[in-house]
Amino acid sequence: MSQEFDFIVLGAGSGGIAAARRAASHGARTAIVESGRLGGTCVNVGCVPKKVMWNASHLAELLEDAPGYGFEVTKLNFSWPHLKKGRDKYIGRLNEIYERNLSNSDVAVIQGHGRLMNSNTVSVNGLEYRAKHILIATGGYPIVPNIPGANHGITSDGFFELEDLPTHAVVIGAGYIATELAGVLHGLGSKVTMLLRKNQLLREFDSTLGSTVMSEMKKSGINIQTNTHIESIENNGARLEIKAHDKSVISNVDSLIWAIGRGPLSENIGCEVAKVQRDSKGYIETDSFQNTSVKGIYAVGDVTGRAQLTPVAIAAGRRLADRLFNDKPESRLDYDTIASVIFSHPPIGTVGMSEADAINEFGATNIKVYQSNFTNMYYAVTERKSPTVAKLVTMGSDEKIVGCHIVGDAADEIIQGFAVAVKMGARKQDFDNTVAIHPTAAEELVTLT
Ligand code: FAD
Ligand code: NDP
Repeated sequence: MSQEFDFIVLGAGSGGIAAARRAASHGARTAIVESGRLGGTCVNVGCVPKKVMWNASHLAELLEDAPGYGFEVTKLNFSWPHLKKGRDKYIGRLNEIYERNLSNSDVAVIQGHGRLMNSNTVSVNGLEYRAKHILIATGGYPIVPNIPGANHGITSDGFFELEDLPTHAVVIGAGYIATELAGVLHGLGSKVTMLLRKNQLLREFDSTLGSTVMSEMKKSGINIQTNTHIESIENNGARLEIKAHDKSVISNVDSLIWAIGRGPLSENIGCEVAKVQRDSKGYIETDSFQNTSVKGIYAVGDVTGRAQLTPVAIAAGRRLADRLFNDKPESRLDYDTIASVIFSHPPIGTVGMSEADAINEFGATNIKVYQSNFTNMYYAVTERKSPTVAKLVTMGSDEKIVGCHIVGDAADEIIQGFAVAVKMGARKQDFDNTVAIHPTAAEELVTLT
């Protein structure tokens, strides 16, 4: 005998929980299946613990700056175990809150590994559950390359398990996670080496952003080696030795972190049996309404490979639930112009197109760029200085803003408001017509000439 629901969700992460609760709020009998901890990647090994760590390393910068403001800062003792304990406790509280919220929303939680049996049946721990609608929201996993000794390294998951601050960490990768974790480790006192297979950090973004952050990271003391390909890793006692293609060796490493991208968790969930189509990388193929190739089976979040961000998974999940259970047939997520922040040092806030992409798409003669490079007034009295860059990419004679990019202190908080304007189709003139708030860094974006 199988248990019947209207909606079964595979995976209780950002997208799955959002969809399940929204569906239940519309009266759908809903169950969510989770094999690990409630909250998924973001809560347990992603955004949340990462932001706590970023806050700590940002605090270290502020403490460094404090003497400039007249504070006598005496001996600083940083305790990683103390921070980790507080962080883990906070996440434990969040797990409980998620459990309570699901229960209060009347969503049945089924603990275990879920697998599709057909288009309307899921099996968990040998029991079968049926529903007219099934959502796959199983997320992703960190990729480890297939080279000798790669298993001596850890990934972002392992980073959050570290019991102490590494003395020498080597971070491999050039994207969000590599940039963020290298910055955190350095800020908290590790010697950090970054190995990039190409010549630039954050190549996916407007080049001003990556180059500014890379130069600041180098200036702060992070050793960034470009065009480096790892051949093997050896474990000499407790220390690692990393050998590169050019025979150079990095030794005495106590923590090697792979941050070279994530893949979809779409194996062993019954895609073949239910005939759910995946692309060559294993991402579940979806149309603009999150429909998979099988009627009644949908997918949202990282497993679909589109803009792998928590608010994207949540928004896609909620809109899907509104479409299926609240009579909103047109409800779907518009994946265009999604803002994002990289919690680097200094942070990046970005929305819309890079200058290069805009030129590619609309032609150089249709693109005008406004940019300001300046030092935030915060640094007026500090020894440490960090730059801010504000950049607008505009298109056409009416200068529609197609890209808005900030790197510098508070960029992480500034960008959200500007993202609203860009999403609404703001023109440069709209920014100019907005009276500035002084003295702030954000005012540069409405005073660019
Ligand atoms: P997930 O949150 O990964 O949830 C999937 C869930 O499904 C998991 O709990 C998993 O255990 C479960 N599951 C998988 N297979 C099965 C199965 N067969 N049966 C039952 N359960 C299953 N995004 C941001 O927006 N901002 C950030 O600052 C940010 N920082 C990040 C930092 C790091 C280090 C990482 C790794 C990611 C970060 N992200 C950030 C990305 C964000 O975490 C993901 O985009 C988001 O969690 C995706 O949500 P999801 O619902 O698709 O998947
Ligand atoms: P990313 O896709 O952001 O970056 C990985 C980068 O590593 C690639 O762009 C590539 O850069 C480099 N790389 C790929 N393969 C190799 C290899 N074999 N050897 C060396 N370098 C390699 O992935 P992340 O793992 O950093 O993050 C995964 C996703 O999680 C992100 O895309 C993002 O969606 C999400 N995330 C969001 C955060 C946020 O919102 N703040 C924070 C963290 C994660 P290149 O081609 O230049 O070598």
